Amino acid sequence: MDKKIGLFWLRDDFRITKNNALIEATRLHDRVVVFYLYKEKSYKQQEAQKWWLSKSLSNFRKQLNRFNINLEIVETNSFKIFFDKLIKKKDFSIYWNKVYEPDYLKFDEYLLNTLNSKNIYNKRFKGNALNEINEVKKNDGTPFKVFTPFWRTAEKYYLEKIPPKEKIIKKCEKKINYFNNVINPEKILPKKQWFKNFEKIWSPEEQSALKELKNFIKEKINNYAEGRNFPNIVGTSKLSPFIKFGQLHVETIWHECIKKNQKNIGTSKFLTEIGWREFNYSLINHFPHMLRNNYSKKFDRFPWEKNSKFLNAWKKGLTGYPIVDAGMRELYSTGWMHNRVRMIVGSFLVKHLLIDWKEGEKYFKNCLLDYSPASNVAGWQWVAGSGADAAPYFRIFNPILQGEKFDKEGEYVKKWVPELRDLSKKFIHKPWEHNDKKFKLGRDYPYPIVKHEEARLKALNAFKKI
Ligand SMILES: Cc1cc2nc3c(=O)[nH]c(=O)nc-3n(C[C@H](O)[C@H](O)[C@H](O)COP(=O)(O)OP(=O)(O)OC[C@H]3O[C@@H](n4cnc5c(N)ncnc54)[C@H](O)[C@@H]3O)c2cc1C
Repeated sequence: MDKKIGLFWLRDDFRITKNNALIEATRLHDRVVVFYLYKEKSYKQQEAQKWWLSKSLSNFRKQLNRFNINLEIVETNSFKIFFDKLIKKKDFSIYWNKVYEPDYLKFDEYLLNTLNSKNIYNKRFKGNALNEINEVKKNDGTPFKVFTPFWRTAEKYYLEKIPPKEKIIKKCEKKINYFNNVINPEKILPKKQWFKNFEKIWSPEEQSALKELKNFIKEKINNYAEGRNFPNIVGTSKLSPFIKFGQLHVETIWHECIKKNQKNIGTSKFLTEIGWREFNYSLINHFPHMLRNNYSKKFDRFPWEKNSKFLNAWKKGLTGYPIVDAGMRELYSTGWMHNRVRMIVGSFLVKHLLIDWKEGEKYFKNCLLDYSPASNVAGWQWVAGSGADAAPYFRIFNPILQGEKFDKEGEYVKKWVPELRDLSKKFIHKPWEHNDKKFKLGRDYPYPIVKHEEARLKALNAFKKI
């Protein structure tokens, strides 16, 4: 056993199973400390995730207690300043798992070089992905820009790998404190208390994630290919925040799915969605400019409009289009939104309101519990048409038809827009055609902020300019 202290730098890996770096630290050291570096400014526009993070830290701390491991939270403004100071101590070895974002990977290079130059033992492990970014490329060595061949290659590559031997975390000899000036997880909670509702819905810990996964495989996965389209039912796994924070490793998902179902249509479709997540990581690492700008340069000339009245109506769920408003209210209230509805509200913002996708991306970032730069930016650029393998800009979702197709009875709308609950199926997605004394448009529910057909033509004209 190494007499030094084993430090595990916790990032997006709040789990004890398949946590390679943490497992290695406990294998080599009697004394292990897990530390989380909290940078307030990085979470400035991720209010909903502050809640998930804070809860994950307290729950993981309890889980680690059983292994005599302390979890310490250190607040810092800069990883570099923190590590430059830490490195002077020299009484530790350090372990961590990769996070597949360009800034993290770049910082890793700095850290690896600095630690090695000071002879401090360190080891970095694969993160929460099936394959490493550089493992999946075209035959000519260039990155994939289209999803289907990417996933075909990625799946094949993953299946051909020899599965690593399953290792487990070991109990440490005794629990120790290592850092000064640590903070409590509660300090991270958002100041505004709107998140109280999240507490009724989500339980940010590994055990819940594993339970949800097993339930999903048992009850829902067979019907996933069909059920995933309908926001009025729970047809998807709702595992996204757990995956984002690493309460679940995607390898665990893969193996649990295959174990039970081999590969039926539902399982295949579900794993393909995990594939989209991997594709997005590949994209942002090979084309990092897309994190801040259009992937497709021609969209730099797109004549977006600035309209704070429209943008606020969209954020508040007051556009007058029921399916859009339902989605935006679900997001604010639960920190999550159904994928079909994310596409509808996204399309409405960029095509009906001609507002830059970056505004939508920013708002989602602040409200989503599952926010991840890769999937959010790629999701928005897919919707806008500016991304890789994106929906063409000229294909414009009709929010009325989308509602009638995917929320036939209007149950989803009635749940989130209760002022429409008495409307019949015929009018639920076009309340402006409804006329009676009890329901008055403009008083009980807004008039549509734009007319669908006019907005569609305007969007097509704008598109012609690029
Ligand atoms: C505009 C827009 C923004 C989005 N922003 C995010 C985001 O910030 N974070 C995020 O995780 N997903 C994002 N998505 C993708 C998708 O909507 C969510 O992953 C999904 O709704 C999560 O619900 P679920 O766990 O029930 O998914 P399931 O259908 O059960 O899928 C299982 C898992 O596969 C992954 N996945 C599913 N669909 C996609 C997809 N289209 N792209 C990438 N990964 C996918 C997720 O990790 C998900 O948890 C966005 C999509 C759009 C259109």
